[in-house]
Amino acid sequence: MEKRIYGQEFGFSTRAVHTGNDVDGETGAIRRPITMANSYALPYDPSDLNWSGAGKSLYTRNGGNNQKYLEEKLASLSGGEDCVALASGVAALSGLFFALLKTGDHVVFSTVTYIAVYRLLHELLNHKFNVETTIVDTGDLEAVRAAMRPNTKLVHIETPGNPTLAVSDIRAIAEIAHAGGALLSVDNTFASPYNQRPLGLGADFSVESLTKYINGHGDAMGGAVIGRKAHLDLIRAQSQVNLGGVISPFNAWLIMRGSVTLPLRMRQHNENALRVARYLESLPRVRFTAYPGLESHRGHAVAASQMSPGFGGVLAFGLDADHDAHNRFVSRLRIITSAVSLGHDESLIVFLGEKDERQYLYPPEFHQGFFRFSVGLEDGEDIIADIDQALRKTGLL
Ligand SMILES: *Cc1c(COP(=O)(O)O)cnc(C)c1O
Repeated sequence: MEKRIYGQEFGFSTRAVHTGNDVDGETGAIRRPITMANSYALPYDPSDLNWSGAGKSLYTRNGGNNQKYLEEKLASLSGGEDCVALASGVAALSGLFFALLKTGDHVVFSTVTYIAVYRLLHELLNHKFNVETTIVDTGDLEAVRAAMRPNTKLVHIETPGNPTLAVSDIRAIAEIAHAGGALLSVDNTFASPYNQRPLGLGADFSVESLTKYINGHGDAMGGAVIGRKAHLDLIRAQSQVNLGGVISPFNAWLIMRGSVTLPLRMRQHNENALRVARYLESLPRVRFTAYPGLESHRGHAVAASQMSPGFGGVLAFGLDADHDAHNRFVSRLRIITSAVSLGHDESLIVFLGEKDERQYLYPPEFHQGFFRFSVGLEDGEDIIADIDQALRKTGLL
């Protein structure tokens, strides 16, 4: 029996469960096994093999089954033709940039992005390879239009953006990029394909850190680029085989397993985050709460037009308190853990901002210290009670 559940005629949850899984031909197991092997048996005459070929059963850096199964599922969930899964979200981003850009090309990217995007584009590719970069507030479409140049090859946005939750209009920016002969890539990590599918809104690439919501359990790293096959073949050959950013079969298998419950988990993240955001917004000593699901958010209307059914599990907020009060507050939390990363099952909080060299690129409320808060899957009332008791012990409530 072959299941082959790839088609968009099946719902998102059905595909999250089935796509990429099948009955194992050797054992009859109804879960495909994990293959931890570096090498595969060569044919009788190996002299015609392309040692740099991707997707071959040759050597695990060229490709493996667990990676392929995960790619099938992610392509389907993201509404894309093809997917390449790599070792981390940053391997996916660097793989995309490296494959697409060369000396003399120009990139436009958002003021608010994952820090490695800023380093990769604005420092590494710019300083080492003379790739030109312009950083713009991609919430401002006129600014995006004005930043385009004849040599602009790529526009890269992140929406909602890490860490300020800034929202950019994917449809409108895709039009601007394409009118200028450029491609659009969207880092979709904060939304996950459950809440937002950039390819259906006109983007050329959707990038995911699988480390976050798609794996969802905080125990494996991975990244993916989803888009058209011709582009992704380039990324596979360059970034996976020759730069070596291959995902381990074990991580691909863990992420495959975690992703089965993506829709269920995202529903709870969406619900908890909106509830926590409303609670934070009601507190007098909370300076601001940034969550795209709040009507008060600058990008709410655009977010509502491109995200559905929810707005993800990450928010940011600032306290009306001195530096050390922030640390005291965090030290008193009992359920919420102080750690980087996001999209795990458990709630994670991190104190950011005061020393961020990109602060000048953020809106004024982010110029003092603030928290990025990844709202987890715990009971919503327990998360709120935890914040409440920690604020009280810190004298902020
Ligand atoms: C975490 C993150 C990344 C990087 O992913 P890794 O798997 O940690 O390499 C990229 N983009 C966003 C928005 C992220 O939150």
